[in-house]
Amino acid sequence: LLLLTLVFSRRTKIEQGLLWALVAMFLSVNQLEAGLSGPASDALFFYSGTAGLVLVFAVLEHGHDIAYRDELTGLPGRRAFNNVMEQLGGTYAIAMCDVDHFKRFNDTYGHDAGDQVLRMVAAKLSQVGGNGRAFRYGGEEFLVVFRGRSAREAEPFMESLRRSIADAGFVLRAPDRPASKPRPAKETKQTSAPRVNISISIGLAERSKRHSTPELVLDAADATLYRAKEAGRNCLKIDESAPS
Ligand code: GH3
Ligand code: MG
Ligand code: MG
Repeated sequence: LLLLTLVFSRRTKIEQGLLWALVAMFLSVNQLEAGLSGPASDALFFYSGTAGLVLVFAVLEHGHDIAYRDELTGLPGRRAFNNVMEQLGGTYAIAMCDVDHFKRFNDTYGHDAGDQVLRMVAAKLSQVGGNGRAFRYGGEEFLVVFRGRSAREAEPFMESLRRSIADAGFVLRAPDRPASKPRPAKETKQTSAPRVNISISIGLAERSKRHSTPELVLDAADATLYRAKEAGRNCLKIDESAPS
């Protein structure tokens, strides 16, 4: 029961692994009742071995998560992106996204509210269409990689993502409000929670003759993002060297 609580409260691979190891050990010890010789001892060996293996894999998976997953947003992080970058070839597009005026948001509503915004943006990004894969690149910057798509082909997916973030708005959670359980509808109506508009700017670039390596495509996406910021933010720009 303690492990079950841990699994639900901490949710790392270690707790899950411990739980499964416990199940395996339980089955193993169950065999003791049948005596310690012949098939019963084989089963004991089998289940204990399974428990050990489960634990080894849990530790390996947890290590993988620590290395490749961003803790705040749950998205794959920069290291994961660097790995993907090494394997990129053929046609692909990279979108660089940056939350607009995020410093101002943090300064106004606090760092914790800022963290919630990053989680909200990450949740939207992880659902981007067109087989785009989202990464947290660092701070309030995110990347989406579209394999097998040109910048023009990736554009509608990123554009609808940008719009859905801008339309969603961010409802500031009162400090006393529980994290998971929403208040009954009646109460929320009375206390109109302040809503803040959040937007992102996007720079989109693709592999081309001029940008022939993932690093160059990334640089082009970054430069294009800067153009989106200059153009007034909450918009998407495509690298000018991409064919229209
Ligand atoms: P722009 O529209 O030009 O992008 O302006 P900006 O304010 O978003 O850009 P700037 O780079 O000046 O500020 C980025 C801010 O992001 C500063 C930093 O405090 C905040 N930030 C970076 N990482 C985190 C994080 O993990 N949590 C929170 N809450 N804030 C973060
Ligand atoms: Mg930034
Ligand atoms: Mg920003």
